[in-house]
Amino acid sequence: MKIHEYQARDLLSAFGIPVPAGQTITNANDAANAYTEVTQAAGTDLAVVKAQVFAGGRGKAGFVKLVRSAADATAAADFMLSNKMVSVQTGPEGLDVNTLLVAAGVDIADRAPDTPDEYYIAITTDRNTRRNTLIASREGGVEIEQVAADTPELIIKQPINPQIGLQPFQANEVAFKLGFKGKQVRQAAMIMLKLSELYHAKDCSLAEINPLVVTPPNDTYPDGQVIAIDAKFNFDDNAMFRHKDLQALADPTEENPAEVEAAKHGMSYIALDGNIGCLVNGAGLAMATMDTIKLYDGEPANFLDVGGSATEEAVTEAFRIILSDAAVNGILVNIFGGIMRCDIIAQGIVNAAKSIGFSVPLVVRLEGTNVEAGRKILEDAAADLPTLQAAGDLGDAAQKVVAAVG
Ligand code: GDP
Ligand code: MG
Repeated sequence: MKIHEYQARDLLSAFGIPVPAGQTITNANDAANAYTEVTQAAGTDLAVVKAQVFAGGRGKAGFVKLVRSAADATAAADFMLSNKMVSVQTGPEGLDVNTLLVAAGVDIADRAPDTPDEYYIAITTDRNTRRNTLIASREGGVEIEQVAADTPELIIKQPINPQIGLQPFQANEVAFKLGFKGKQVRQAAMIMLKLSELYHAKDCSLAEINPLVVTPPNDTYPDGQVIAIDAKFNFDDNAMFRHKDLQALADPTEENPAEVEAAKHGMSYIALDGNIGCLVNGAGLAMATMDTIKLYDGEPANFLDVGGSATEEAVTEAFRIILSDAAVNGILVNIFGGIMRCDIIAQGIVNAAKSIGFSVPLVVRLEGTNVEAGRKILEDAAADLPTLQAAGDLGDAAQKVVAAVG
C-alpha cells in the first residue's frame, strides 16, 4: 500500500523528523489562502505547490512549483488541477491530479555555487543480503535514478542488523560519509535512526526521504537545519491488518481500479502488459501459468488469483475484471480443483458468458475435485461458449491460447 506525500510528511512528523508545515487543497481558489497561512507561519515568502499523486517524477514534470506570491500559488494550482501529469512513472496517458499540497518552502544551502545540497536517504529490504538496508547518497534530488545507474559508487548502503536495528554509530558513519558538517551530523543521524524506527513500527517496505536538505544557518541552527522536503512510503500489504491507522489513509482513486475491484471480492489481480488474460486459483499456479504462457512466446495481460474458495459470483466478477482490460484478446483459465471445485468454476464461466458474453478465445484447463461435473457443465453450455476450447494439460492450454491470440 502507498500513501500520499502529505500523509507521509505527517508520519515523519509523528516520529520526530522535521518537515515544513503544509496544507492540502482540492480547488485552485483555496491556493492563495493556503499560501498566506503557510508562509506567514513559517516567516518566509517561499512556498511550494505539489501535486499529490502516487507517481514520482513530479518535479521534472512541472508538478512541483516554487512560488513567492499568492497569485503565483493560484496559477500553479490552477495548472496542476487542470492538466494531466505526465512523468516517467505515469506512462504517456498521464494522471489526473485532484489534491495539492501547499507547503512552506525551504531555502536550500549551497554546497557549491548553483548546486543546492540535496541528499537521499531511504530504508528498504535488500533481497541479496536479506537485510533491511539504509541507502544514502549526497547526490539526491530528482536525478537519483540516474545517479544510481551511472555512478553506483555514490550510493552508500548500510545493512541493518535484524536483531538490534540501526545503531547510532552506523547512522553517524553514514552522516559523515554524506559530508554533513558540525551540528548537522547529529541531526542527520537522528533522522536516519527515527526513519528506521518508523520503518519497523509501520511495517514499511520502503521509507524514503528525497531530498533531505540543509537550510542556511540561523540563530537556532548555526550550522543550518537538516529537514525532509519530500517523502515516500510503501507498506507491506500483509501487515496492514495490524495498522488500522494506515488503512484509513488508503486512497483507492490512486490505485488501479481493476485491482481495487478484485480486492473487494477477495481476489488478487495485478495488471500486466500482455494480451492473454489469466484466471487461476492459487498464486503458485498463477506464476506457473504465466511462465508457461511465456515459454510459448505469449504475454500475460494480468495475474489473477481467484483464491481457494471463490463463489460463482466471484468467478463472474473475475471475468468482468479481465475483460475490462481492452488489451485482452484471449483468456486462459487454469484451475486445479482442491478446496475449490471445478464445477463452481465451470458454472462461473457459463454465468459470465451469459451476462457479459465472450467474444475473445477462451481456453479452459480444469483438473481435480469435481472435474467431470465441471467438464459436463461446459459441454452442456457449448452454445453460450462459441469461443471455448478445452485443454488437456497446462502446456497444451498455453499453446492453444497463444495460437488463438495470434
Ligand atoms: P518529486 O520530483 O516528485 O520527487 O518531488 P520533490 O518534492 O522531491 O521536489 C522536486 C524538487 O523540487 C526537489 O528535488 C527540489 O529540488 C525542489 N524543491 C521541492 N521543494 C522545495 C523547497 O521547499 N525549496 C526548494 N528550494 N526546492 C524545493
Ligand atoms: Mg522527491
